[in-house]
Amino acid sequence: MHNENIRPESVVAQALGWIDETTRAINPPIHVSSTFLRDEDNQYRSGRVYMRDQNPAFDQAEAVITNLESGHETLLFASGMAAATAVFQGLRPGDHVLAPEVMYWSLRNWLMGFATGWGLDVELIDMTDPSAVQAAIRPGMTKLVWVETPANPLWTITDIAETAEIAHAAGALLAVDSTTATPVLTKPLELGADLVMHSATKYLNGHSDLTAGTVTTRGDNEHWQRVRAVRAQGGGTLGSFESWLLVRGLRTLYLRVRAASSAALAIAEHFDGHPLVAEVLYPGLPSSHGHEIAKRQMTGGFGGMLAIRATGGEDAAIAVAAHTKLWKRATSLGGVESLIEHRASVEGVGSPVPLDLLRLSAGIEHVDDLIADLEQALAKAHEQ
Ligand code: PLP
Repeated sequence: MHNENIRPESVVAQALGWIDETTRAINPPIHVSSTFLRDEDNQYRSGRVYMRDQNPAFDQAEAVITNLESGHETLLFASGMAAATAVFQGLRPGDHVLAPEVMYWSLRNWLMGFATGWGLDVELIDMTDPSAVQAAIRPGMTKLVWVETPANPLWTITDIAETAEIAHAAGALLAVDSTTATPVLTKPLELGADLVMHSATKYLNGHSDLTAGTVTTRGDNEHWQRVRAVRAQGGGTLGSFESWLLVRGLRTLYLRVRAASSAALAIAEHFDGHPLVAEVLYPGLPSSHGHEIAKRQMTGGFGGMLAIRATGGEDAAIAVAAHTKLWKRATSLGGVESLIEHRASVEGVGSPVPLDLLRLSAGIEHVDDLIADLEQALAKAHEQ
């Protein structure tokens, strides 16, 4: 694509407009070769030696995501967890790290288990409160501040620009898990973050048919080179077919995220104050945590993720999920189909999640059908 002013919707719809030079195909071929021919004079002029870290199938997805995030470079990984953990493994044992109390539970467990065992000094704090970040950060010792916004599964908001300033003043990098916001709604690197990570399993692919992860950097530096080495040597890379599927999914990113976002807002507004719902958690509600920051930081919507707390406690919440028909009872998020999950059943001991909380991932079905299904499930759960 040659027009610098082209809008991101157009960039992704055509996946940067790349054409396969050999066949003139407008969709990329799927390369499966694990190895590449060496030149007769012992050089590798193709620039590729071995597929683990140099798979041509990565190129287009990485280029599209770098463009969307206004970054310097993107790396694809085999899952969001492989991407996130590579950022932490790019640090050195002894480094101090700040992470949020409310964050994707599996990464929190990895940080408090594996990462601390490996030698990182991990401290969990209320990342939504800049004074708590300021109080916990150790200039010269803290090497990374990890933010997730909106944060799973309470959908609390962290001010990326303000947290980046605090991190940078102390000499730390700021990384943002932007899985829920997507580049459609938030551009962390433009707000001052150094790294942005996605579980591409979610919105970037959007069809619940692969696991993938990405990390994009604002610039090259020693830490980024170590992240690159973690991927190249650790080998947590994506397969060719999954890389191809990701490019296909990305083409409809804007349509899907906008549809999910407007459905989530309508659902949140409908159930806010509902007699069978104790609380709706959604950054798009003016009464919600971080709404003013979200209005500034997110453009064009507040995302497709929300949570409702059922009146009647844990049993009522589980019963609501049991009675839904259109909403599917399943973990994960960001697909075209709407999902409902009793989150505490997944997160277990140590989770900050209330027992009566149902996590909702709004899909692209008709929003009136989604609301009607929740209405009948709430009513049935309370008849019991
Ligand atoms: N970050 C967030 C916010 C997530 O929701 C998830 C998965 O649910 C991950 C990271 C991990 O991604 P993956 O499941 O692709 O490893």
